[in-house]
Amino acid sequence: MSMTKLTTVEIKCPNCGSNQLIQGEAAETVDQVTCVACGTFFSYKAEVEKIASELRNTLVGIVRNTLK
Ligand SMILES: [Zn+2]
Repeated sequence: MSMTKLTTVEIKCPNCGSNQLIQGEAAETVDQVTCVACGTFFSYKAEVEKIASELRNTLVGIVRNTLK
């Protein structure tokens, strides 16, 4: 895993993993993402936070292994 991949996070559908997503354009719908492939609705912000937390755990794991 390279540092480039760690910093370029791609949002994917939590249901089917597709990256074919439609995001709302209006201010009140900008957090609403629809998956084109399976029709799942999800929160963009929640998904970003989930990925950020996974990245944090991965980085903590890397640091712990390095310090062993
Ligand atoms: Zn999907």
